[in-house]
Amino acid sequence: MTRRLYIETVGCQMNMLDSELVVASLRQRGYRLVDSPKRADTILFNTCSVRQHAEDKIYSALGRLKHAKRHHPDKVIGVIGCMAQKDQHQIFERAPYVDLVVGPGQLQQIPDLIERVTLGAGRQIEVSLGRKDGTREQISRSHESYDPLRDPTMRPTPFQAYVRIQIGCDKFCTYCIVPMVRGPEQGRPPEDILAEARILVDQGTKEITLLGQTVNSYRYTAHGKTTCLSNLLESLQEIDGLDRIKFVTNYPKDMTDDLLDAVHDLSKVSPYLHVPAQSGSNRILERMKRGYTVEDYRDMMHRIRQRVPEAAVTSDFIVGFCSETENDFKQTIDLVRECRFKNCFIFKYSERPGTKGAERMDDDVPEDVKKRRNNELLAVQNEICEEENLKFLGQTVEVLVEGPSKAARKQASSENVVEQLTGRTPSDHIAVFNGNARLVGRILPVRIYDVTPFTLFGDIVTDHVGPEVYGLELASPP
Ligand code: SAM
Ligand code: SF4
Repeated sequence: MTRRLYIETVGCQMNMLDSELVVASLRQRGYRLVDSPKRADTILFNTCSVRQHAEDKIYSALGRLKHAKRHHPDKVIGVIGCMAQKDQHQIFERAPYVDLVVGPGQLQQIPDLIERVTLGAGRQIEVSLGRKDGTREQISRSHESYDPLRDPTMRPTPFQAYVRIQIGCDKFCTYCIVPMVRGPEQGRPPEDILAEARILVDQGTKEITLLGQTVNSYRYTAHGKTTCLSNLLESLQEIDGLDRIKFVTNYPKDMTDDLLDAVHDLSKVSPYLHVPAQSGSNRILERMKRGYTVEDYRDMMHRIRQRVPEAAVTSDFIVGFCSETENDFKQTIDLVRECRFKNCFIFKYSERPGTKGAERMDDDVPEDVKKRRNNELLAVQNEICEEENLKFLGQTVEVLVEGPSKAARKQASSENVVEQLTGRTPSDHIAVFNGNARLVGRILPVRIYDVTPFTLFGDIVTDHVGPEVYGLELASPP
């Protein structure tokens, strides 16, 4: 019997990839995806615990299912991913009608666990060991990397794919829950990464984004040989049919010159670097235990500008971290002005139980101050985005066409062959232009004629020269 699956995903690219893989493995067992929890008999929430807000969203969504479960007790409800690992049995306490709690290190078990629930075995929980619950070896083994065979129909676009190269994190920034829920940092064997990339390219993938929490710290040692990210990029460059390679997220201290040279020298590697700074104040960086100073970050930016002058650099910042003063915040604004990022993700500090920040520091910046600082920093960054985007006016950029633009999707009409399309440049800028839906998946030159802080508007450059010829419409006689 076909089961109907509804899945909702919150959080980062790693979660999006996990959901893709879980759905693919359930489809192999005969599940069909549906677009609403009402129509589903299995409902999964792939969760995030980086900020409180992401967790609140899931608990409210679960609350809305309470009545549905009462009327349809056969519906299987599962909470998977980071919040499952963090809250574990608490989820059953807060939402007793949940059947399944599965951490990010146990995702491969989901099909069997659902089956057990449907056969009447009751609630199922599978999570990894905590960071203090065993030797490093034991804890690592309990966080299994989940990378089964890929199914192109499961991706938003078949020509773009994520590939995991690293799981976990060992940096233990004092505000961050990731090392606790995703376990120790583990590099994936390079031969597995390359084999997966080749399969994806055979399936039509043109752009691969390598994923890791600190992707540029990637190391894998076997038989006395260590492979690092620049080596991986060199091997991926050799894959025929692959056009673009991106990687996120970078850790400032591990941005080595050889990696920057690889980004510059390898034609398929996008000149796009996401390197979160988190703060412009040394005092705050130290309290965050980021392991670098503002001077180190500046030096890294200088090396990026020298070695990869065409690079677009993006960053993350947290405002209102414990004890952040107006002066600390001002230094963050100064750093943002100075670095002229292509874009920044700005977050209000959210205390996470289980982190050093929660245990040892006071979340003492009032919410309204966090909000104001967030808006102020955003305004500074938006100004920079617009100024930087102006440089694209009149330029021709290479765009990988992803599909209809947001506006076009809103007023979708299948009869329209020419519609507004969207895609990304190698530096990850979003471009919008008119074109035929058949162009989706192709890389095309687009000449930019207008910009906003977040979007470039352009026209596809065609080989066609000379005046346009229009067919004459014969007016019908009155
Ligand atoms: N591994 C990446 C790194 O080190 O930059 C990113 C991990 S995290 C999922 C993405 C971003 O969320 C971080 O860069 C940070 O700015 C933000 N973040 C993490 N913990 C946070 C917290 N407790 N409150 C607010 N923002 C947080
Ligand atoms: Fe979290 Fe820091 Fe690790 Fe990034 S590097 S995942 S912010 S602990």
